Amino acid sequence: MQKLAIQGGKKIRTKPFPAHITIGEEEIARVREVMESGVLSGFIGADHPRFLGGDQVRALEDEWSKYYDVKYAIAVNSATSGLFAALGAIGIGPGDEVIVPPYTMSATVVAPLIYNAIPVFADIDPITLCIDPNQVEKLITKRTKAIIGVDLFGHPIDADALKAIAQKHDLFIIEDAAQAPGAFYKGKACGTLVDIGVYSLNYHKHIHSGEGGIIVTNNKELAQKLRMIRNHAESVISKNASPSELINMIGFNYRMTEIEAAIARVQLTKLKGLLEQRKQIVHKIEKEITSVPCISLLPQQEDVENVHYVLPFIFDEEVAGVSRNTFIEAVKAELEYTELRETEGVKITCGYVKPLYHLPIFKNQTAYGDVKCPFSCPYYGEALDYTRVYAPVCEEMYEKKLVLTELVTPGMTDEDIEDIGKAFRKVWENREALR
Ligand SMILES: *Cc1c(COP(=O)(O)O)cnc(C)c1O
Repeated sequence: MQKLAIQGGKKIRTKPFPAHITIGEEEIARVREVMESGVLSGFIGADHPRFLGGDQVRALEDEWSKYYDVKYAIAVNSATSGLFAALGAIGIGPGDEVIVPPYTMSATVVAPLIYNAIPVFADIDPITLCIDPNQVEKLITKRTKAIIGVDLFGHPIDADALKAIAQKHDLFIIEDAAQAPGAFYKGKACGTLVDIGVYSLNYHKHIHSGEGGIIVTNNKELAQKLRMIRNHAESVISKNASPSELINMIGFNYRMTEIEAAIARVQLTKLKGLLEQRKQIVHKIEKEITSVPCISLLPQQEDVENVHYVLPFIFDEEVAGVSRNTFIEAVKAELEYTELRETEGVKITCGYVKPLYHLPIFKNQTAYGDVKCPFSCPYYGEALDYTRVYAPVCEEMYEKKLVLTELVTPGMTDEDIEDIGKAFRKVWENREALR
């Protein structure tokens, strides 16, 4: 028996894990050029070619659309802005329902509220962890206008099944691909699987420009509306530039700076290499952690290329004889934080986010003022009570089964990975002490 670190024993590791740094000399050189030009944003909010942004932004959009083989790419200042703009562009309005998964980053499910629409939560699939098309179909009403699918943790949505439903009921689909740049589904790139896709360039994503987002679509009319919403919309329309109708043309400022675009252009050229490194690391960690009997991986789907934003795995409390949370706390105590993220602790997490229908914004209906708008909107006319929403698959993942680790980022060495395995095995072998 070895004494576990959580009970005062010696830790497996005392050195931090390596920081995830993708920025290098080339980004610095490009930023320097932009800085020296003095033009840090190229946008003009007027009827002018610069309505579409500066040189860097437009070059980025061109390169992004070629890389992903999609007709239109629209750069914005975050994926959150991208999702908001996407819902505006498809014409979502008060009282419309948008079906969303409860297991995602909050921006996905908040987006419908921006247009006074109602998010309706569909449970996730226990294998892909993405929205379950069978659950989506059950929730469709005459008010349903759209579905937002999220390529969660880098795993593609079941786009074919969702598209069949959308076609049958005349719905739009938006793909939140923030966690899946470079992932593939049946040979097609994630982000381009449905009507509109949104990528993130936030610091925590596979590639980044600090903050930033890219929207893609093959639909010209949608592309036009997206560009309008990005840059003050109808306040600057002209005869040439305006789309055929002007619903939702509330103008926001979702514009990307030239600095961010310059960085993102370099980052895009690095994506393939970074994903290849990440894949190798994931394979090695999978091997290490599955040497422990209470840990298993989610079954691999056919014809899917996952890019592992994080690595999810399943904990079996019956096999372990101790709870997931107790076991993982003990594993974390054996390990160390990640450089530059000292305050965040060891990057292994139980359960991801609490299913999002539990957020006060839904439970207490406090989105707009204290009048329960948009849930009480006369155009809605229903009485949705989120305290009654319950997605059993998602709840079980959150409460008992799912563990994930961010320690899959390029820069992790074999020794770093072996330490993870050692920590899991030490806790497994000494689990009696945790009972
Ligand atoms: C990160 C993330 C977002 C938001 O991205 P930002 O660029 O930070 O706004 C949206 N959806 C998902 C699934 C994400 O992981």
